[in-house]
Amino acid sequence: MKLCFNQATTMKSSTLEKDLELCEKYGYDLIEIRLDKLREYLQTHTIADLKNFFSSSNLKPFAFNALEGTLFATPQRWEEILKELDLFVEVGHEIGCNRVVVVPSPDVGDKTVSQIREESIRVLNLLHDRAPEFTLAFEFVGYPNLCVNTFGQTYDIVKNCVIDKVGAVLDCFHFHAMNSRLEDLKTASADKIAILHVDDCEDLPVGMLRDHHRLWPGEGAINLDSIFSTLKEIGYDAMASVELFRPEYYDMDPEDCIRVAKEKTVDCLSKYWEIG
Ligand code: ZN
Repeated sequence: MKLCFNQATTMKSSTLEKDLELCEKYGYDLIEIRLDKLREYLQTHTIADLKNFFSSSNLKPFAFNALEGTLFATPQRWEEILKELDLFVEVGHEIGCNRVVVVPSPDVGDKTVSQIREESIRVLNLLHDRAPEFTLAFEFVGYPNLCVNTFGQTYDIVKNCVIDKVGAVLDCFHFHAMNSRLEDLKTASADKIAILHVDDCEDLPVGMLRDHHRLWPGEGAINLDSIFSTLKEIGYDAMASVELFRPEYYDMDPEDCIRVAKEKTVDCLSKYWEIG
């Protein structure tokens, strides 16, 4: 199991340049690069600088985060999404990264489950046409107002999408937050899990959790053991990415945050997988 760092964890305390240096120092295998951090980096660096870093590091890029608000988008928002995707393709081609997180939309009104499935498949096809070499990692969000908010709903979309290069993101926080069912995960195919996001959270009722309630893996209310043992059963062993958005962790020195994030994540994962 490869260990990955998601830049959300140090979003307000660090930069891409610093995250790269620290993730390499602390022995992560992979990093997920955020759009805002990439844009900031490219103000003072070139794509060639990024390529040079990865060509001499053990750390490798795994995915870009994220195309957001992709479903039922206005024509204006859709144009922006395509430009964001074009940037990921341009950079990804140079650094060897061909995976992008695709996030559904909030507040879409009274759309039915089947209308949302149809729109999701339409959008995934359009993104695939634009970037056929990219794997599209579709991430449900465990908030009540997000139109795709459980693992079962996501897997139904992914399964019905004819494109090979589409998979689900399983984020343990989002899985827990809207009571996704382990039964749905048990019937999933490991090769359709495109990314695993690892985290924990405070013990709030269904529908009340938000990103800022995330905690270090193993320190909260999520039954990570049930998720990990199910993933193990279905044969998933690709990668796990620590992804936290907690304000208290933004107050830490990013070096401490990256070190602690690794220790806590490895502690939880190593009961099930050999890391590295
Ligand atoms: Zn996530």
